[in-house]
Formats: sequence, structure tokens, C-alpha cells
Amino acid sequence: MSITNELLNTVLRHAGQEVSRKEFLSLAGRGLAVGVAAGTLAGCNSGGSGKAEASSATPTTGTPAAEVDAATTYTSPGGAQVPSSEAVSPPAKVPADVSKPIELEAWKSDVDPQSGPVPTPLPPDQRVGYALVGLGHLTLEELLPAFGECKKSKPVALVSGSPKKLKKVAAQYGIKPTSCYSYQDYDKLKDNPEVQVIYIVLPNSMHAEYVIRGARAGKHILCEKPMANSVRECELMIAACKEAKVKLMIAYRVQYEPNNRLVRDMVRDNKFGPPKYIEAQNSQSSANPDHWRHKKDLAGGGALPDIGLYCLNTSRFVLGTEPTEVFGYMHSTPGNPLFKEVEEMMSWQMRFPGGVVVNCVTHYNTHDSRFYRVNAERGWIHVDNAYAYHGQKLQTSHAEGPAKMQNQIVIPEKNQFAAEMDHFSECILESKDPHTPGEEGLQDQRIMEAIYQSAREGRPVKLPAVQGTDVFRGPEPKRA
Ligand code: NAD
Repeated sequence: MSITNELLNTVLRHAGQEVSRKEFLSLAGRGLAVGVAAGTLAGCNSGGSGKAEASSATPTTGTPAAEVDAATTYTSPGGAQVPSSEAVSPPAKVPADVSKPIELEAWKSDVDPQSGPVPTPLPPDQRVGYALVGLGHLTLEELLPAFGECKKSKPVALVSGSPKKLKKVAAQYGIKPTSCYSYQDYDKLKDNPEVQVIYIVLPNSMHAEYVIRGARAGKHILCEKPMANSVRECELMIAACKEAKVKLMIAYRVQYEPNNRLVRDMVRDNKFGPPKYIEAQNSQSSANPDHWRHKKDLAGGGALPDIGLYCLNTSRFVLGTEPTEVFGYMHSTPGNPLFKEVEEMMSWQMRFPGGVVVNCVTHYNTHDSRFYRVNAERGWIHVDNAYAYHGQKLQTSHAEGPAKMQNQIVIPEKNQFAAEMDHFSECILESKDPHTPGEEGLQDQRIMEAIYQSAREGRPVKLPAVQGTDVFRGPEPKRA
């Protein structure tokens, strides 16, 4: 719309400055000045002051609220009725099905990355209800906040040994006081129909017992990694869930994280030719010798099952095949109270079919460093912060003529914890098997036991040959 200065000046002159030039221009910019101008001019033409006559046709300052259309005006902070913004709904496709995204009017050019589909959260009463067992670092710092990004999962119950923590956390996340349980009352989860999944977030040695009791309570189980402290425990957990006809998933969040999934796709598609070897490292530091992570009975081991497991599991995930032999070297600094019971460092090598070698190191006594590099025949793929909660950085390198092409691939971040919980919820809602079932955790446990044996005996240890790819994994998670 174009309003000439002449018209504007005429209006302002006759309107006795009822509408300031600044206000007028702002209204004109919003497509509303026509109404103001028309109303004010109507007042001028009738020979009146413009004030009274304009009030009935057009909202201007001083117009009583009762006389104006509430839909087209609002009361300004000074009490005056002023024209309201023109609110419109641009064209959009709105499927009735809640699982289908609303398609909004597009505006971005394809020169920039396209935004993903609009989220499709299920209505809260249709989401799968989770009971979280153990209110420690992982639950409080990552899992409960991640429910805010879930579309199919919601927290409905808590289990803790601390009544104070239960009360506070339940209030923070809207969980009913009647859905808060002590460890003594754990088996009473059976009688809570809102709980469909029990998520075990306890020290490693407690996983087996709480998974087995949870399965007997008739609930599906999501269990933190490492699955347990021995192959035997893993087998008992799988058997208990089968017997109770409930699903069991191990929380391998990295397998649901978009950068790591993209690496997996590039490797499986031979993007840079066949993979030849992988270097992987997951290291961090710790300080408290009293923490369960430094007690053999509770943790099962040191750096290897806690963080080295990510190097092991992610290499298996990326390659899809299984190692046939391992060779480990373990060290703990003598006299360091942190490492009296568990290893400070494990360095190990895994041989995969086709001569592919994976070199890993994990350390409990260095500044944190979490990366891997897949070296393929014609290029490499490198992921920094590969096993971290955030900040994955994906780079590739290959040659094109005289140039070395080094690319950084940036894809939108996705909360890994929300992705893994929603995957499990989807398995329950759609009667599917999880992508990372108990068998996946059991295989890691077998390999870790072989690594410990090798480190103790100072020789390579063979593993049973496994034919095929993704033998221990369930169907692919849906792409968001
Ligand atoms: P944490 O020590 O912070 O919390 C453990 C919880 O277990 C606490 O609330 C504690 O009160 C409770 N608990 C019950 N009995 C206990 C006992 N006998 N000794 C000690 N604690 C006891 O540990 P965390 O870091 O939250 O780890 C919990 C589990 O989650 C572990 O299996 C760990 O490997 C796993 N984890 C996974 C990730 C991941 O990224 N997936 C990250 C961290 C931890």
C-alpha cells in the first residue's frame, strides 16, 4: 500500500494531531493506515473536529473500549484503543493424523540447509510412561531433561533411596507422589498401570537384579550400558525378559546419534572405498576413590566397561561385522588410590573380518578426549567428541586431482537420549524389536571379557566367528 506524504499531511492537519506521524507510519506499515485515514477523513469531510465522528468508524486515541471491535483493536499501555495487528494464518497443510507433520508455508532458498519437518509429539496421554530407577548424575543431568525433547515418551515414576530427592524431583517433573518408590518398594511398580518401561540407571552390578525383577513385574526394560558385569548375568537378563514376554533394550545412545549414524552409512556404502582400520579413543579423568566407579564389585571394571565400551560398541556398529580376535594391554599407576581395584587404562586391538583392524585406548586419568577415525582405502572419516553428549564434529578427507578435499559436515544436533527413549517407545507402540536389544549388550560383554583375559595373559584371545552383518541388532530406528 502506498500513502503519499500529501495525503498523510492532510490527514494529520485535519485530525488535530490525534495520530502522530510516527504512529501513522507504523500503522501504514502494518496495512492499517487506510482505515485510520478513511475514518479521519470522514470526520474532516463532515465538518466536525474529526475526533467524535472518527471514533465510531475508526479506532483512534480516546475511543471508549466498549465502542470498538475487540477483534481489531487493543488497549495500549496508556489506556487508548489502538488498531490491532492484522493476524493471519498463512497457507499450511495440517494433516489430521498426529504422526504427520504440519507443513508450513516455505520461505527458505535451497542455498541454505533446509529445516527438518515440524515435530510430531504424541498427545501426552498416548506417550509411553517411564519409571526411572536411580536419581544420580545421568538421570538428573541428562535423562529427565531429555524427556522435554521426547515425542513418544514421558516420565511417570521414580525410584530412589532418598525421600528428599524423590520429593524434589517429582515436583520438578510433575510426577505424582504416589508414583515415587523406595528400592524396598521397587516391585510395587507392577501395580502402576502408568508405567510401561522401567529404565535402569544404577551402578553396573545392580543392572542384572533390577532388570530381572522389573521384567517379572511385567514391564519393558531399558537398561544403561554396560549391560552387566558378566556374560552370565547378560544371559540371565535376556532369558528373564523373554520369559516375561517384555522387551529389553540397552541404552547405546551413540547408535541413535545422527553424526555417528551418518558415519555408519558412509562406511557401509564404501563412500571412500573399503574401511581398513579404525583408531578410537575415549578418555576422561576422575577424582573420587569412594565412588562406585572405582569399586570392582559395583563397576565390574574401570575405564573399559565405563567409557572404553563406546569405542568397542561404536566400531562394531560402524562396521556391522564382529571381531574375531582381541589383544589387550592394561595398566594402573601403582599407589594411586583411584585404581586399587579397577584399571586406569586399557589399550586394545580388535581384528575384524577382511583384515580390518580397530585400535582402541581408554583412560580414566587424562583430560577428556573422545574421537575415532575410520581410515578407508580412498579417504578417512573423523569424528571428534564422537561419544560425548553434545558437540560431535564430523570431518572427511579424500583426494580430487591435485587437491586434498577436507570437508566438515554439519548436521542438526539431536538429543541422543530423547532419540533412544523415543525409539524404545516406538517399539512398544508398534510391537517392534529394539535396534539395540539385550543381545547387543551381551556381545559387547563377551568381547570385554576376552580383552581382560588377553591383558591378563599377555596374548591374543580368539572370539567365536560370527557370519553376516548387524547380527545382534534389531530393525533400524525410524529416521526423524
Ligand atoms: P551415579 O553414581 O551418578 O548414580 C547412580 C545412582 O544409583 C545414584 O542415584 C545412587 O543413589 C543409586 N544407587 C543405588 N544403589 C547404589 C549403590 N549401592 N552404590 C551407589 N549408588 C547406588 O551414576 P551414573 O553416572 O548416573 O551412572 C548410572 C548408570 O548409568 C551406570 O550404569 C553408568 O554406566 C550409566 N551411564 C551411562 C551414560 C550414558 O551416556 N549412556 C552416562 C553415564 C552413566
